[in-house]
Amino acid sequence: MANLWRGVIREYADRLNVTDATPVVTLGEGGTPLIPAPALSARTGANVFVKYEGMNPTGSFKDRGMTMAISKAVEHGAKAVICASTGNTSASAAAYATHAGISSVVLVPEGKIAMGKLSQAIAHNASLLQVQGNFDDCLDIARELSANYPVHLVNSVNPDRIDGQKTAAFEIIEQLGKTPDFHFIPVGNAGNYTAYHRGFREFADAGLATHVPRMFGFQAEGSAPIVLGHPVKNPETIASAIRIGNPASWELALSARDDSNGYFGALSDAKILEAHRILSAEVGIFVEPASAISVAGLLERSAAGEIPAGSTVTVTVTGHGLKDPQWALRTDDGSDVQPTVVPVDVAQIADVLGLVKGTA
Ligand SMILES: *Cc1c(COP(=O)(O)O)cnc(C)c1O
Repeated sequence: MANLWRGVIREYADRLNVTDATPVVTLGEGGTPLIPAPALSARTGANVFVKYEGMNPTGSFKDRGMTMAISKAVEHGAKAVICASTGNTSASAAAYATHAGISSVVLVPEGKIAMGKLSQAIAHNASLLQVQGNFDDCLDIARELSANYPVHLVNSVNPDRIDGQKTAAFEIIEQLGKTPDFHFIPVGNAGNYTAYHRGFREFADAGLATHVPRMFGFQAEGSAPIVLGHPVKNPETIASAIRIGNPASWELALSARDDSNGYFGALSDAKILEAHRILSAEVGIFVEPASAISVAGLLERSAAGEIPAGSTVTVTVTGHGLKDPQWALRTDDGSDVQPTVVPVDVAQIADVLGLVKGTA
């Protein structure tokens, strides 16, 4: 067992708000791959690496924060946790809560959460309620319930979440053996943007990183409050994980941008889907739509001449493609791909594939 990854709390205990008295609730999160992406390097002239957070136990980076939030909740004697969620937080909270033997309540916007995520939360025994409102309404209610009832809030307004999520930045520096020049990341509540900056800043201050990378965050055009400078009442985008009109970590994220000479941009759903296709078909990494916006952002900033050739660029893709797989089948005219049906016949199949007889 000696060399097995032990989850982010045990791996980074000295940098997290835990003590020997903290019961560690872990599913082995973190330690995700940092994958060189030659196809993206070729398109941009930079050296591009993808941090594949879909490889966490419940399929998104939320697990890094949730191991902390649930461990601290259990340390404080909580018997139940609550969260508002666009999907992945609920899947993660439900899994970690049930592992710890406590119960979870999740509030999701009615009809707005991807099937994979809904299935996870239900499978992991959450009390899941669909609220007839949007994510921001769900968060308001979760906050009020946790203030007045015996349920512990595990949304990213809980500082333990951001604390746990910063470990991804530590891993990037350790995996790369140096500090990237730019880091690209999707932005919803902006907790993860804030967390990566914090991780990079901590390593820089400790002399473990040479600098803080420029933090480039991206919101969907129909859901871009930080870029617009005001909340968006009815946020819209196919990227459900970042369909957020009033980010909980807005102020923290602005400080992180300023400290890192960073940037926030907004991109259309069409650009998100284009990046999704590039990641799937050229790099070999399957993500949910929200995750692809960081790649879309890299391609857009590169086209704008903002990424010097030879820069080292890391890109976080936040959640697994199996969470919300339908987008992979969608074609430009809006219909779904229908795989060709063939008879049980070698010659006919070779013909359909355009294969000519002879050995390779
Ligand atoms: C939660 C989530 C985001 C957004 O992260 P924030 O911390 O809310 O900015 C992006 N992508 C996926 C897949 C997520 O689950």
